Amino acid sequence: MAAPAKIPPATLAKLSKLGIRHRADLLLHLPLRYEDETRIEPIETAEPGRTMQVQGVITQSEIAFRPRRTLLCRLRDETGELSLRFLHFYPSQTSMLAKGQKIRAVGEVRMGFHGLEMVHPKCSKAGEDTPLKTSLTPVYPTTAGLSQTALRRLIANTLEVIPMPDHLPEDLRMRLRLADFAESIRVLHNPAPDIPPASLEDRSHPAWRRIKFDELLAQQISMRVHHLARNARKAPALKANGHYREALLKSLPFSLTPAQQKVAKEIGLDLEKPHPMQRLLLGDVGSGKTVVAALAALQAIENGYQVAFMAPTEILAEQHYLKLSGWLSPLGIFPVWLSGSLKASEKRQAAEKIASGETLLAIGTHALFQQQISFHGLGLAIVDEQHKFGVEQRLALHEKGKEKSIEPHQLMMSATPIPRTLAMSYYADLDVSVIDTLPPGRTPVTTKLVSDARREEVFERVRSACLSGQQAYWVCPLIEESETLELQSAVETYQQLCSAFPELRVGLVHGRMESSEKAHVMNEFKAGSLQLLVATTVIEVGVDVPNASLMVIDHAERMGLAQLHQLRGRVGRGARQSLCILLYQQPLSELARTRLKVIFENTDGFAIAEQDLILRGPGELLGARQSGMAMLRFADIDADQDLLEQARTTADLLLRDHPDAACSYLQRWMAKKHEFLHA
Ligand code: ADP
Ligand code: MG
Repeated sequence: MAAPAKIPPATLAKLSKLGIRHRADLLLHLPLRYEDETRIEPIETAEPGRTMQVQGVITQSEIAFRPRRTLLCRLRDETGELSLRFLHFYPSQTSMLAKGQKIRAVGEVRMGFHGLEMVHPKCSKAGEDTPLKTSLTPVYPTTAGLSQTALRRLIANTLEVIPMPDHLPEDLRMRLRLADFAESIRVLHNPAPDIPPASLEDRSHPAWRRIKFDELLAQQISMRVHHLARNARKAPALKANGHYREALLKSLPFSLTPAQQKVAKEIGLDLEKPHPMQRLLLGDVGSGKTVVAALAALQAIENGYQVAFMAPTEILAEQHYLKLSGWLSPLGIFPVWLSGSLKASEKRQAAEKIASGETLLAIGTHALFQQQISFHGLGLAIVDEQHKFGVEQRLALHEKGKEKSIEPHQLMMSATPIPRTLAMSYYADLDVSVIDTLPPGRTPVTTKLVSDARREEVFERVRSACLSGQQAYWVCPLIEESETLELQSAVETYQQLCSAFPELRVGLVHGRMESSEKAHVMNEFKAGSLQLLVATTVIEVGVDVPNASLMVIDHAERMGLAQLHQLRGRVGRGARQSLCILLYQQPLSELARTRLKVIFENTDGFAIAEQDLILRGPGELLGARQSGMAMLRFADIDADQDLLEQARTTADLLLRDHPDAACSYLQRWMAKKHEFLHA
């Protein structure tokens, strides 16, 4: 085999943006589509939208200066003529494209001002006998600064130098009627011209099926390995003694919905097992996850184990602290509060109570999992809005668990509903419980889209709502580029609203406030002594004030779908009909328009998440962008059901009879996921 070409560091950095860390990853970096340079097509068959290769003589070549410097050529073959247009070009190109030259050009045909044309086609000099390519030309997903040509060269070299053993035992492969691995990889990178294009496009070609099968198989193996590994680890078996939980349920002003009962039971059974639970509790905004978490916490506490309850923002963590203190202190359980903004002495005090085991319930931000915090006997870690935590924080949590020989159970919660396909790949090693109905007595929120030109009317609406005893939120514009600017705009909005509503009591809450200040304002709003709360998006998650029934979201066009849905979920929590006004500023970008339409037309979080997935792609939706986490890249859980079934049974077989092969599968497909999957 030839030696691998050396990859310069700058290219390595670009490659890592594409999720390519090892040379072998390049093999699985498969083309998005292909260009056909294996044949020359007559110009008369050109039509807009078609990418084709043509060959002919330049009959005209001139540099025009209007509207800007442009090289314009006419190319003629026996069947017709076509324009070639270049907006930037070198002298060498001008001479190659001089009148009378014989040229081969590849590009997409468009309808231009003077008829059919190609803009910036790829051109080369051609004689009668200039050879044609023998396979389709791959077009790869790439990133800024990494050209197709460079990527093609790199991958072609890799195909030559990297061995591609088939990890699937031959007899199994025959039985499953799957194509050879190396052959499939070669075909997909450089398909022969006679392969039906549709079979590449819809990925039904045997080579595609093989790759999709391998991807699914690797995923199935990984799921099983994690499951087995988890069952080999020890966690405290938290028997359901019941006394605390019964007392809590009795004291609540409501009874659990069937959906809550179902998930509480699933969690309760997991906690009784002597292996660490890893369960994700999914439930739309307002579906009542907190009380379910409280029940889980009590099960640990009933067994004398500690519970850590962590939330991504201070304001949300504080809400949990207040809510759980209210629920649990009558039972004689007093939670400890821990956040980064506590004074050093307060932190030390909290840390001592946690280390000595004096407190059984610690609530706070990720400060709970910092190095200096050591638990006496952690039995359960609850993580709210877990997708908001970064990879490092999840790893820290995991490490914290490993400090003692016994690992805590983990309950993760999220109000960002995750489409099924994603849940299966991203959260492959988690068990999932879903609260699929909202508590009774909620009236759906009405949503209105209002142009900023009608701001005055919105003011009136807020005024009359507040004067009639309702409470309202005014959410300030999100300014992604600068937190300082965002703060400044929040303060300005607050002042503006204070002077617009002299008769109302208006409060302000934002992310830079001291936590005690924040808590103070939130409590005043909760108690009803503030009627209007001006807030930055810090209230996005978890804030719970049932009497608030009006929300205005200023510059709604700047916000993402998940964020809008979360914000809107802050109202509609009481019996009163609630209204959410999305104030937007013209002109709207296409994306913003689509987002506002989606949020206007949908109230179901799952439907919104599906749309979000389409608009943004999976990585960003899950906040895992920085993780380099790969979802299923090639297979589709719905469309490739048959392959998934085969992969399921094959995974068991490999693990039983060919553990080395199973290992190789993980290596090839999951190497870069490895660390993350352990978090
Ligand atoms: P989320 O799932 O968004 O975290 P919360 O746990 O904050 O939702 O619950 C939202 C509100 O609904 C809270 O005020 C909570 O006390 C209330 N709630 C929870 N369960 C029920 C129920 N079964 N019946 C009535 N209200 C409930
Ligand atoms: Mg919540």
